[in-house]
Amino acid sequence: MTEAMDKLIPSLTNPEGQAGARVNLFDLDREGLERFFAETLGEKRFRAHQIMKWMYHQHVTDFGQMTDVGKALRSRLEQHCEIRPPNVVLDQGSSDGTHKWLLGMDTSNSIETVFIPDKGRGTLCVSSQVGCGLNCQFCSTATQGFNRNLSTAEIIGQVWTASKHLGNKTHHQRKLTNVVMMGMGEPLLNFDNVVRAMSLMRDDYGFGLANKRVTLSTAGLVPMIDKLSEVSDVSLAVSLHAPDDDLRTQLVPLNKKYPIAELLDACVRYALRKPRTSITFEYTMMKGVNDQPAHARALAQLMRKFDARVQREDAAKVNLIPFNPFTGTRFERSEEADIRAFQKILLDQKVLTMVRRTRGDDIDAACGQLKGQVMDKTRRQSEFKRKLEQQGVSDAA
Ligand code: SF4
Repeated sequence: MTEAMDKLIPSLTNPEGQAGARVNLFDLDREGLERFFAETLGEKRFRAHQIMKWMYHQHVTDFGQMTDVGKALRSRLEQHCEIRPPNVVLDQGSSDGTHKWLLGMDTSNSIETVFIPDKGRGTLCVSSQVGCGLNCQFCSTATQGFNRNLSTAEIIGQVWTASKHLGNKTHHQRKLTNVVMMGMGEPLLNFDNVVRAMSLMRDDYGFGLANKRVTLSTAGLVPMIDKLSEVSDVSLAVSLHAPDDDLRTQLVPLNKKYPIAELLDACVRYALRKPRTSITFEYTMMKGVNDQPAHARALAQLMRKFDARVQREDAAKVNLIPFNPFTGTRFERSEEADIRAFQKILLDQKVLTMVRRTRGDDIDAACGQLKGQVMDKTRRQSEFKRKLEQQGVSDAA
């Protein structure tokens, strides 16, 4: 590297915008890292691949241990870069094999990441924001308000932390087989960082997961679903939770801006662009709220219509999620018999419908229970609302 380049590196800003801080290499996807090596360090692009293999396949964060990288380059990397995963504040295992990490994102905020092992697969539920501003009524995260978006490093760092803990071997004996962007936050409101992190999850030099094994779950930001379909091939899950607009608006206030018909139009466009992937519709089952036979029949009708528009049976999958209660909620979990009856109505209408088993109850790691520590949310909440207003979704939060 030339002297001029040495001078250039300290002028880079890290994702928090601190000029002169060391660049956290977890913030760069393969393309970004190749560019960084070529344009900033004056090195060959393949150096980026070597570093990525150390980072993501071997879980090495110390440049000194990267034995196939020359000493001079290693010392320059040490000087100007870092490989900094999130700080593990708490590491908790459940009796059913579920594992939860509380990860410190900065001095006052933390988020939760949960690993759920199942027959032949292991799924990691990853967060995209500290808190969430969309205010879905049945969601524990919503009670904390919104603080900030996570950086790419903070998102991929969740996968890295779990992968290291599990002794996951990329391309061999994988324990971590699937990632769902379904933790704290609305991933499509942190679009660039989420897309970059998902590309690292699927990159062969990263975690090497197949496209369909990475799922993004959204509350239904219609324009961003279209934008996602242009840049990524991941699976899509949509938080539906109600078969009609009146009820959905009560449960998911974003529905006021993007009602069900518009949301399903966007899902049809997504499914038509990704011919082999199904769209999963998440439906949280709440006693006496959305779990009656009439709801099931209306939902079945919506799903059948969706399959017909995509011209593929099983283009839509329904995932019934028994509600997980949390302190202060007014909702209750549906009775087991009502959930089974609801599922039967859908199955009888040939709608592929699964009931999600509740896991990690004893460590509050079940779906909808994730709750890190969100500080300073009042100021951030108004900032978030301002950003939503710019996107035309002011009445959603
Ligand atoms: S369900 Fe998802 S989008 Fe809705 S408030 Fe909770 S985290 Fe946000």
